[in-house]
Amino acid sequence: MKKVLILEDEMNIRSFVVINLRRAGYEVIEAGTGQEALDRLQQYPDIGVAILDIMLPDIDGFEVCRRIRATSKQIGIIMLTARTQEMDKVTGLMTGADDYVTKPFSPAELTARIDALFRRLGGDSSAPGEVITQGPFVMNTRNHTLEKSGTRIRLTQVEYAILKMFMLNPGRALSREEILSSVWGREYEGELKIVDVNIRRLRIKIEDDATNPAYITTVWGFGYKWGA
Ligand code: CA
Repeated sequence: MKKVLILEDEMNIRSFVVINLRRAGYEVIEAGTGQEALDRLQQYPDIGVAILDIMLPDIDGFEVCRRIRATSKQIGIIMLTARTQEMDKVTGLMTGADDYVTKPFSPAELTARIDALFRRLGGDSSAPGEVITQGPFVMNTRNHTLEKSGTRIRLTQVEYAILKMFMLNPGRALSREEILSSVWGREYEGELKIVDVNIRRLRIKIEDDATNPAYITTVWGFGYKWGA
């Protein structure tokens, strides 16, 4: 059974999530503090997706996200953000989250986001391995790995999915809408900004100079273009 961790200190929200995710067929692991979440993740290394609240009694959700990412790039991370804290979304994504859901949210919305992350995790693992080589970059689509000039670059699932889309379409301008629907799924109802934040993160990892990108260039008013 697919395992999901829910980190939320408010009991009523947590039970609401637990009940609905169990109903949707997930095995749910609960945590009420940041430290407890990190312990549970060690205890159950096969947790596929972690849902992290931000305001917690001990360490905040961003720090939990950072610590998870320091050891695992594979796990999917969804931040629970408050409607009033617009900046939370960007901060969350910059610390390594894949997605965010704004409170209050419907169970259907949350499960749709989790399903989308699991689809990407499962990805093309059964497909034959393929190596895409462009410029200094070598992407292995079986292992989901990327090397630049022989050095491994660690990418989150979302970053990997975006870069793969770029590498399969060299020289073609891709609209932000196209990237959003391809990477997050057609039914995704989030904002286009999530694309820009992930591109920003990707540039920091793969560009020689992220402020003057050479590989992922901006197509003003439209989207992005890849060239290596
Ligand atoms: Ca809270």
